Amino acid sequence: MKVKSFVLAGLILSGCATTPVTNRSQFMMVSPQEEMTMGATEAQKVVQTSKISTDRVLQERIKRIGKKIAAISGRDDFAWEFTVIDDATPNAFCLPGGKVFFYTGILKITENDDQIAAVMGHEIAHALARHGAERMSMQMASNLGAQVLATALNIPAQYQNLYSQAYGITSQVGLILPYSRKFEHEADQIGVYLMWKAGYEPRQALRFWENMARLSGSGQKPPAFLSTHPADNARIQEIRNYIPHLPAQR
Ligand SMILES: [Zn+2]
Repeated sequence: MKVKSFVLAGLILSGCATTPVTNRSQFMMVSPQEEMTMGATEAQKVVQTSKISTDRVLQERIKRIGKKIAAISGRDDFAWEFTVIDDATPNAFCLPGGKVFFYTGILKITENDDQIAAVMGHEIAHALARHGAERMSMQMASNLGAQVLATALNIPAQYQNLYSQAYGITSQVGLILPYSRKFEHEADQIGVYLMWKAGYEPRQALRFWENMARLSGSGQKPPAFLSTHPADNARIQEIRNYIPHLPAQR
């Protein structure tokens, strides 16, 4: 009963949120403050465990593109920062609160500023749409759901841990977990809108993903970015369909 009332309280306390651009309502059990704190902590860890690129020109280039997109994101409350990490893995991400990291590996694939803006827009979109917090909320709800079920089924306390394992529950929640397809398509849509709004050419997003598709087809790419960001026909087609729906005026 105790668990049940806790769940109820959790559901009442937690609210709904809405994504920008796509206006999708989200189930949210993580507050923006909690999310920002986690983002800041994670950013510190990334800085401490990574090799920051000493290429000044490259750092400035990423900062310039990032700032243009941040300026039209509507999030002046974010503590925006753009950092290039010296790592050959093709990867990029944006933590809650606006700490953006680009690996040199992905900058070898991007052909111009517009394509960098496409990646930047996509990663910033994940943060704006609070996909990490939404994923954590879903995980928390499913953990609580499993506990309620375990209590309802009268599973003795000493077996509940086993039960949780069987149920596929882990308490591990991360901010950089693979995103679902739904989150990916949403980040593509919001990202294309952001890069376009910031003055970049949205068709270059297509070029970037087509190049990624070619590289992933060659079977030589490390899996990091591609495992969470499959460059398949469905993605490319969705972006192609979305571009004509951008507003007529920037
Ligand atoms: Zn993504």
